[in-house]
Amino acid sequence: MIVVMQAGSTEEQIATVLERLEEHQLHGHLIRGEERTVIGVVGAMIPPELREELAHFSGVRETLRITQPYKLVSRELRKEDTLVNVGDTVVGGPHLTVIAGPCSVESEEQIMATARAVREAGATMLRGGAFKPRSSPYTFRGMGEAGLKLLAQARAETGLPIVTEVMTPNDVDLVARYADVLQIGARNMQNYQLLEEVGRTNLPVLLKRGLSATIEEWLLSAEYVVAQQEGNPKVILCERGIRTFETATRNTLDLNAVAVAKRRTHLPVLADPSHGTGKWYLVPPLSLAAIASGADGIIIEVHPDPDRARSDGSQSLNCENFATLMPRLAAVAIALGRKL
Ligand code: PEP
Ligand code: MN
Repeated sequence: MIVVMQAGSTEEQIATVLERLEEHQLHGHLIRGEERTVIGVVGAMIPPELREELAHFSGVRETLRITQPYKLVSRELRKEDTLVNVGDTVVGGPHLTVIAGPCSVESEEQIMATARAVREAGATMLRGGAFKPRSSPYTFRGMGEAGLKLLAQARAETGLPIVTEVMTPNDVDLVARYADVLQIGARNMQNYQLLEEVGRTNLPVLLKRGLSATIEEWLLSAEYVVAQQEGNPKVILCERGIRTFETATRNTLDLNAVAVAKRRTHLPVLADPSHGTGKWYLVPPLSLAAIASGADGIIIEVHPDPDRARSDGSQSLNCENFATLMPRLAAVAIALGRKL
């Protein structure tokens, strides 16, 4: 349910609504937008009489049912785009976000060289996995905490905020000590305990879409995180390609999902053309297409020597190709009234 307050409603009137909700063991998420102030109420049991009753409280304009199964992340609740602050950058505003870096942190030399190169080319954040979900248990599964320390070193030198994956609820405290953004991988999109745990950290969360998840399931997973965040959503969605019948590419980057998600939720939406295609030479065209489809930015894999990468080398741009892509992205951004 949404309680829409009248323009100019007082703090006291808002407090009265919140108190009435609490008498019903319901928590109101207060959302102050530029256009309107609303109180989002979620829960399994909202008595219909309560909605009627609150509609007549002073300072209340109307009460509405949220028709979508996801509530706090829904555009019905919050009309304006949510902006997620990460360090000095803002995700979801006029400036596009470009997160770049290797699939995995492999060595000091590798992560520092990548961080310097992507910073120089204009990236806004550095990615790199220290805990890697790999399809085969016999492949490189990441450096663990040593990798997190190297990421922190790269941030200290370049100033780039760090995006890195956390795979289990047990690792959340550890990864949160180093990361600026916690990445939830595609394979973990429906790990609900993990979603709740990252929601409690209050750090921004990059939520990748599952390989076979519908858009609705993806947004419901975002709801798990936001439900922990006290009405201050810091979730960044990321379309990273889904499994289809097509075998020419690793996955099919579903740009429909970007445009659909932008309509249905106020959260920022990024695209990952590296995992979405699996081929480095398809990353530039799909990066441009992602921005054109309305994505708030991209996350791409960049490695100083992709042929020697310990994971995902075939879909990683080298530093030079990344630097060449950036001005092309800027041109598309300008065409859309945005900036890099
Ligand atoms: C990654 O970003 O390297 C990764 C493993 O992504 P995904 O979870 O989308 O496969
Ligand atoms: Mn990868």
